[in-house]
Amino acid sequence: MSDKVFARIEDLVSAGLVEAGDAAVLAEVAARYSVALPETVARLIVRPDDPIGRQFLPRPDELRLLPEEDVDPIGDGAHQAVKGLIHRYPDRVLLKLTSVCPVYCRFCFRRASVGAGTEGVLDDAALDAAFAYLAEHKEIWEVIVTGGDPLAVSPRRLAALSRRLAALPHVKILRFHSRVPVLAPTRITPELIAALKESGKTVYVAVHANHVREFTPEARDACARLADQGVALVSQTVLLRGVNDSVEALSALMRAFVEMRVKPYYLHHGDLAPGTSHFRLSLEEGQTLVRALLGRLSGLCQPIYVVDIPGGRGKAPAAYFERVGRAWSVEDWRGIRHDYADSLGHGGDAPKNPTPQGSQL
Ligand SMILES: *Cc1c(COP(=O)(O)O)cnc(C)c1O
Ligand code: SF4
Repeated sequence: MSDKVFARIEDLVSAGLVEAGDAAVLAEVAARYSVALPETVARLIVRPDDPIGRQFLPRPDELRLLPEEDVDPIGDGAHQAVKGLIHRYPDRVLLKLTSVCPVYCRFCFRRASVGAGTEGVLDDAALDAAFAYLAEHKEIWEVIVTGGDPLAVSPRRLAALSRRLAALPHVKILRFHSRVPVLAPTRITPELIAALKESGKTVYVAVHANHVREFTPEARDACARLADQGVALVSQTVLLRGVNDSVEALSALMRAFVEMRVKPYYLHHGDLAPGTSHFRLSLEEGQTLVRALLGRLSGLCQPIYVVDIPGGRGKAPAAYFERVGRAWSVEDWRGIRHDYADSLGHGGDAPKNPTPQGSQL
């Protein structure tokens, strides 16, 4: 299916999605962080600042940088074993198969390294090196394929990847993190599903979505096709101001996931990616919201609210963060304690965001 993609600021201006008066400053934004918005997703935008528009339309706010923000906010670089392969935890690795996505989220934690101007799919030499590492490291039980968006890669390449993984008996689980089932559902073809399953291993897809309005009938069907074919589905959501920062929005989203056979897995605190402070909540605001879901919603609907500790220290449940004066402190999974800067919290000096809290359906 040919889905027109808005990739230039002038496309967004002519579609009436951004103000002509902002075009110059938005061109500066787009020069730093790629823009791509398929027309099928753009059609879901009712107002530019609604929960869909906020996720995908560039804003002048993206030029504002805070001192704690970093081009590598979760410290992938510190644990890169070979090109494209991040080995942070003993039993699992991330394989960054591609650096492109069909749609670019304005809050992307890898926004400094993904995009239209990047390399795209890992080349053969890099894949050979990654597979040599995987073959050598028998402690690796799970391979998490990410990017960019790995399901934007052709079924032919995905099938080739699956066949190579089939040759590694110690790898039991194959997990793909993707927005494609929801935002580019026509790509979830029988051919693609067969490619994901070709290794014969247990396959999980972690479906990224942040607002219930992303779940079009086509998106629901695509998730159903995956589930019907025996692909296990879990969810991934980023907590975002003006998108899903209300009990109502989070409840509707988590319930919809469960109705679609997608088990809520992670709710991510906004990473300290450059130019994303207008999206972040303070840790305290996030904790209050997530606490309100307990009891109100079925246990099936409860995600784990996690924060990636900067510097590559791994994820920690937000509930484990402790206040130390104005700052926060948390132990990573190895038991090492770290400070966490949250200048949006009380006592912080970051500009307060004027966007009203709570998103409308
Ligand atoms: C997030 C992440 C994983 C996956 O962590 P889970 O808690 O198993 O979902 C694995 N490796 C790296 C480098 C990660 O950042
Ligand atoms: S799909 Fe993921 S990697 Fe791609 S822009 Fe969105 S958050 Fe970033």
